[in-house]
Amino acid sequence: MLFLETPIEFLKGVGPARAQMLQRELGIFTYGDMLEHFPYRYVDRSQVSTIRDMDIESPYVVLRGTIDEMHTVTSGKTTRLNARLSDATGAIELVWFQGIKWIRESLKPDVEYVVMGKPTVYNGHLNIAHPDLERADRDTTTKKYIPVYSSTEKLKTKGLNSKGIAKLMEQLLYLSKDKIPETLPIELIRKYKLPSRADAIEVIHFPRNAHDIALSIQRMKFEELFFLQLDYQYAKHDRQRRTNGFVFSIVGDCFNRFYNERLSFELTNAQKRVIKEIRSDMKSGHQMNRLLQGDVGSGKTLVALLTMLIAVDNGYQACLMAPTEILANQHFLNIAKMLEGLGVNVELLTGAVKPATKRKIKQRLANGDIHLLIGTHAVIEKDVQFKNLGFVVIDEQHRFGVEQRAKLWTKNSRPPHVLVMTATPIPRTLAMTLYGDLDCSIIDELPPGRKTVKTIHSTDAQRLKVFAFMRNEIAKGRQIYVVYPLIEESASLDLKDLMDGYESIVREFPLPQYQISIVHGQMDSSAKDYEMNRFKSGQTQIMVSTTVIEVGVDVPNATVMVIENAERFGLSQLHQLRGRVGRGGEQSYCILMTGNKMSNSGRERIKTMVSTTDGFRIAEADLKLRGPGDLQGLQQSGILQLKMADIINDEPIVRAARESVQQLLETDPDLSQIEHACLRLYLQKNRRGFAWGKIS
Ligand code: ADP
Ligand code: MG
Repeated sequence: MLFLETPIEFLKGVGPARAQMLQRELGIFTYGDMLEHFPYRYVDRSQVSTIRDMDIESPYVVLRGTIDEMHTVTSGKTTRLNARLSDATGAIELVWFQGIKWIRESLKPDVEYVVMGKPTVYNGHLNIAHPDLERADRDTTTKKYIPVYSSTEKLKTKGLNSKGIAKLMEQLLYLSKDKIPETLPIELIRKYKLPSRADAIEVIHFPRNAHDIALSIQRMKFEELFFLQLDYQYAKHDRQRRTNGFVFSIVGDCFNRFYNERLSFELTNAQKRVIKEIRSDMKSGHQMNRLLQGDVGSGKTLVALLTMLIAVDNGYQACLMAPTEILANQHFLNIAKMLEGLGVNVELLTGAVKPATKRKIKQRLANGDIHLLIGTHAVIEKDVQFKNLGFVVIDEQHRFGVEQRAKLWTKNSRPPHVLVMTATPIPRTLAMTLYGDLDCSIIDELPPGRKTVKTIHSTDAQRLKVFAFMRNEIAKGRQIYVVYPLIEESASLDLKDLMDGYESIVREFPLPQYQISIVHGQMDSSAKDYEMNRFKSGQTQIMVSTTVIEVGVDVPNATVMVIENAERFGLSQLHQLRGRVGRGGEQSYCILMTGNKMSNSGRERIKTMVSTTDGFRIAEADLKLRGPGDLQGLQQSGILQLKMADIINDEPIVRAARESVQQLLETDPDLSQIEHACLRLYLQKNRRGFAWGKIS
C-alpha cells in the first residue's frame, strides 16, 4: 500500500473511534487526506501582547507573565481551577474545567509562562479558558507560527481541537519523511520556482517564516488548479483527437429556405461569426462541445435554430432542451411557426404532454419522423429514443445538473454535437477554470435598434408616481411586468406578498379598462400557459408574477419591468429579469422597488443594476459580492471542492496553471513521456471533471 493511502486509523493516537470521527467530520480517510488538512491561519507567537493592551476581540492572544494566585471553585457539580496571570501591566484570569489536579500541581509561582488562548468576558471578568501554556525558560519550540486547524465540536470532545490535530500532524509528518512524492512535472517546478510537494506540505504545517508559508501555499494552489485544468483540458484534447463526431457536410434546403424566406432581418455580425464557428465544428469530424454566451435578447435562440436546421439538412435529428415548461412551450410555438411549410417536423415534449400524445411522439422519434424535438428534461427520460440524434442544444445550461446532461449524452452510441447556451455571463477567471473543456462562442452585439433599458431605483414612497408612469406606458399601447420574489423557504409568505400586490394593482388598474394576468409557481401549467398566452397576445396589459418568467420569455411589446422587493434578488436574477424588456424597438424601463432600509449588499446590487447593463460587468460584481460558492450552477462544478485556491483572488495562478496545461498537452498530448507518467496516473485515479468533459 502506498504510504499516503494508509488508513488514518493506523496513525498512533488515532485508532478506530477517532478515525471514524475524522472521516465523518472532516472527510479524512487516509494519511494523504490528513496531510492535506491545512491550517486556515497561523498565530504569530512572537507577537506578545501586554495584558493591559491586548486585543480582547482577537481570536488568539499571546501573553507572558507569572501565576501569582490559584484556587478551585466548586459550584453545583462542576469544579474549576482559577489562576491569576500577571505581567507588568495588569492581570487576567486563567480557567480550567478539566485536568485540574494535574495543572494545579504543575503550575509554579515565580516562573514566567508563555500563555496563548482566546480571551472572553465572563461575569464581567476577562479570562482565558484552557489556555496553551509553556514555561518561558523551557519554551524549546522555535516555532514562531502556530498553525490553527479547523475542527468541530464533536472532534473537540475527542481531544481533537486545533492543538490535538497539530500533535497528530507532527507525528504524521515525521513518518512522512521521503514518502511524499512529487506530483508536478519537474519542468514546472523549475519554471515557477516552486517548492517540492513534500517541502510545501511540511512548511504549511510547520512554518519557519512568513515567506516560506506564502510560497508553499502558492505551490499547493498551483497544484490544485493545475490538476483541475488537466482534467478538463485532457478531456477536451481527447475529444478533439477522436474522429467520431457526426459530419454535417452540407448546408441544404431547410437552412437556406429558412434563411432566405423566413428571416425578416439581417443577422448581426456576432451571430454570423458564431454560426461560422459552429458550422466549422460540425463538419470537422470531431464532436462539438461549445458554450454560447450572449446577453439576454442577443439572439442565441435564433442561432440555435439555424444550426439545428443544418443538422436536419444532413439527415440528423436535433433536440432543444429548455429548463422550464413555459420556456419550452415558447420555443416550440415560435419555432413551429417560423418553420411552417418548410417540411421540418417539430414536436414538443414536456411533463405536461398527455400520455397518449407522448407515446406517439416517442414512436415518431424512434422512426425518424420527427426532425426537431423541443422540450424540458422530459426529453432525457430513458424511454425517449431517437433514431439518429446528431445535435443537442441546451438552453440556459446553468439550470441543468451535470447528471441530466449526462443522460442526454448517452442517448447515442456516438456523441451528438452539443451546444450549451447561457445568458448568465460567466466571469473570465471562472470560465477559464470551469469550462476548460468547452470551446466558447460569444455574441457580444445586440440586434440593431435596441435601446438600452433605463433602470430606475424607486422606494415605496414613490409608488404613486410609479403607477402613474405605468398608466402612461399602457396608454401608449405597451405592456408591463410586475415581478415578486419567490424564495422557497418562505414560499407561502411570498405568495401572500404576490397576492397582496396583485390586489393593489387590480385596485389601481380597474377593469374593464385594464386586463391583468397573474402567474405563479402554484398554478398548474395549463393555467400558467393560458395567462402567459393572454399576455403574449396583448389581451392583458400587466403580467403580475413570481420569477417563473425570469428565463427567456419573449414579449417584445413589454417595455416596463417593475421588480418588487428588488433588494431580495441576486444580481444575475435581476439582470435576467431586466432582459425581459427592451426586446422591441421602444425605449424600455426597469424599475427596482425597495424599502428604505437595505443591507449593504442589497444596496450594492441595486447600485450595480442602475449603473450598468453590461452582463459581464454584472457577473463580475456578482462574483465579488457573493463569492463563487453562490453562483448558480456551480454546486456541481468541482470549483467548490477547491481546498486552497480561490477563483476570485488567485486569478494569476489560474492563468499560470491553465497555460502550463495547454503547453504540456501541446508537447505531450498522450502524456506518454516518462516524466509525465505521474500525471497519467493522476488522471486515471481522479476524474474530477469527468462528467463535464464527457457531457458538455
Ligand atoms: P436570446 O435567446 O439570446 O435571449 P432570442 O434569440 O430570443 O435571444 O432573440 C430575442 C429577440 O430578438 C427575438 O424576438 C428574435 O427574433 C430577435 N432577433 C434575433 N436576432 C435578431 C437580429 N439579428 N435582428 C433583429 N432581431 C433579432
Ligand atoms: Mg433565450
